[in-house]
Amino acid sequence: MPGYELWSDKERKEVNDVLETGILMRYGFDGPRKGIWKSKELEAAICETFGSSYAQLTSSGTSALSTAMSALGIGYGDEVITPSFTFVASFEAVLSVGAVPVLVDVDDTLTLDPDAVRRAITPKTKAIMPVHMCGSMADLDGLQAICKEHNLILLEDACQSIGARYKGKSLGTIGDAGAFSFDFVKTMTCAEGGVVITNREDIYTRCDGYTDHGHDHLGADRGADLHPFIGYNYRISELHAAVGLAQIKRLNEFLSIQKKNHAQLKAILAQVPEVSFRRIPDPEGDSCSFISWFLPSEEITRAVVAEMKTRGILPGNFYWFDNNWHYIRKWEHLKNAATLNALSPELKARVMEQANKDFSASHAVMSRCISTSISLLWTSGQIQEKGEKMLDVIRKVLAERGIPV
Ligand SMILES: *Cc1c(COP(=O)(O)O)cnc(C)c1O
Repeated sequence: MPGYELWSDKERKEVNDVLETGILMRYGFDGPRKGIWKSKELEAAICETFGSSYAQLTSSGTSALSTAMSALGIGYGDEVITPSFTFVASFEAVLSVGAVPVLVDVDDTLTLDPDAVRRAITPKTKAIMPVHMCGSMADLDGLQAICKEHNLILLEDACQSIGARYKGKSLGTIGDAGAFSFDFVKTMTCAEGGVVITNREDIYTRCDGYTDHGHDHLGADRGADLHPFIGYNYRISELHAAVGLAQIKRLNEFLSIQKKNHAQLKAILAQVPEVSFRRIPDPEGDSCSFISWFLPSEEITRAVVAEMKTRGILPGNFYWFDNNWHYIRKWEHLKNAATLNALSPELKARVMEQANKDFSASHAVMSRCISTSISLLWTSGQIQEKGEKMLDVIRKVLAERGIPV
């Protein structure tokens, strides 16, 4: 998964360019910065690499989602459909613009189930936000058809799937807008950062202003800018953008290592017929940052997780069903709408109602799922050893239950 594993002289060199001038901010200081514009360069590289018309860097993936939602006009009264399995940032961003996160079941793609999405649509639905979890994609054809039919916005949370593609197009470029995160553990990192990508000029122009206090950025003098709307400070710094600039140039290298390591480990796990794998709508487009696999029941899955823990091989394997950050089951703060600032009573009630629905369809999938993150540092010998240890655990647990192995 993470580009931080291959930190190098290339990242140091880009950061040093900025340290030499001392101009750490992305706007202004045209003279003293001596032609060093890392944020602008990174935005151009993002457009080029992923095939989007516009890119607006932000301070994080979370702020990229908030920015995209504001730019898309999502706010008071609106419902945004988003999955029960995601990172907390997805619903945080919805709440940040005053809209209601409508959590919907995932299927064996580990992303939004289009049928469940259809059932969740109401006259207040404004947007569908699939989250392309763990390196791979949602059923975008299915979701796009629903958006078209009901005239809804499609916003892709592609924070975990940088470099993944669907039918030849980069994830994040297919909806009205998409967001990546460049936090420390994502496929490429800025240390902290994110981006909104879009092919719509109107959306981009709003993102550009929103992330910088509403500045219109039309003149050369920052102090004389007008403010057509209220914004915030979600700017990235030049130091962070410099790290990202080095990393994006290495993205293909990261992805090809990921794919090679993923294929080797998957072939080992596939030796056990009781192990099945996540359904991937376009297998060619998987970024391969994780292998997500299923066992036949929750009981067997829990036993495998426990045995991997006993043997010290659990790190890097995620049982999301019990995870505090990624799955509805442990989001007590959302279920109680525990915000520090008071929400309107109407919003609070709707948030709680949505978060406390029946998610048994998601539980049936997630309780049997383990995701193994793919390291860029593994040698082929290490993958073989790791895979065999995992096989050993799985076979032991199955044999104990009388399943022939
Ligand atoms: C990481 C992540 C985010 C948020 O990104 P940050 O840069 O950490 O704020 C949003 N959504 C998903 C699915 C993520 O994995």
